[in-house]
Amino acid sequence: PILPADASATGTPEAGAGAGSGELIRFEGVTKRFGGTTVLDSLDLTVLPNRHVTLIGPSGSGKTTILRLLMTLVRPDEGTIRVGGEYLTHEERGGRLVPAGERHLREVRKNIGMVFQHFHLFPHMSVERNLTEAPVRVLGLSRDEARERARELLELVGLGERADARPGQLSGGQQQRVAIARALAMRPKVLLLDEVTSALDPELVAGVLELLTDIARSTDVTLVSVTHEMGFARDISDCVMMFDQGRVIEYGPPDKIFGAPERERTREFLSAVL
Ligand code: ADP
Repeated sequence: PILPADASATGTPEAGAGAGSGELIRFEGVTKRFGGTTVLDSLDLTVLPNRHVTLIGPSGSGKTTILRLLMTLVRPDEGTIRVGGEYLTHEERGGRLVPAGERHLREVRKNIGMVFQHFHLFPHMSVERNLTEAPVRVLGLSRDEARERARELLELVGLGERADARPGQLSGGQQQRVAIARALAMRPKVLLLDEVTSALDPELVAGVLELLTDIARSTDVTLVSVTHEMGFARDISDCVMMFDQGRVIEYGPPDKIFGAPERERTREFLSAVL
């Protein structure tokens, strides 16, 4: 279905009580197939502003595809996605919903930041320049404004002294801190975290998770994370969504999902990873 379903539809996994008009992210009937495989199966979900949602579940269950859809890196085969009330997937023209064009995608992408497993910093630019480039080019900030924002964020992530370094001169943990600061420099409404610690040496993981927990507490950014770090999921989340075969089979606050899961599949998964 291209047109949005009834917004009062029940049974939609939602992160945050009293979901309704204030929702920030809304998936309605989203289906994604790759080749003959249905990776997401008519998925509905909503996330309220300022919530921290963690997607867990077995490998291949569709979690990363959710993030890639939100980044507009892939498009759904069916259904609609809205962020802040605006369609990501479609735009309204003459009262009809049509697939979104490039210009529309560039606009909606401004609301969404992503931190990847492998950092994806610009290797030939200084750390500071990594943080100022997009705010200047995409948001139209002056160099001075962007630099000031970059300095504040580098302080926040504990790298105030490394503004002039190249990414290659930093440890993996430091590079991931730069990537987090770079995403925040765009002041996104939503920050997507895709297995952000899985490429790090084990001794660097805790520091990055601590930083993200601090950011979750001290900013009003909405977080959607995919992680295998169940301790982190427990600490940072308001809501944990358990995926299996392209569907959310169970969701709720971390105490419930980790402490008293209802579904056998969730119990199996947790006993395998914990
Ligand atoms: P998860 O993050 O839960 O491990 P993914 O969302 O990455 O799962 O992937 C779900 C399924 O979709 C997997 O079976 C994966 O192989 C498949 N898939 C993901 N992206 C592509 C793609 N670009 N082309 C083909 N298959 C893909």
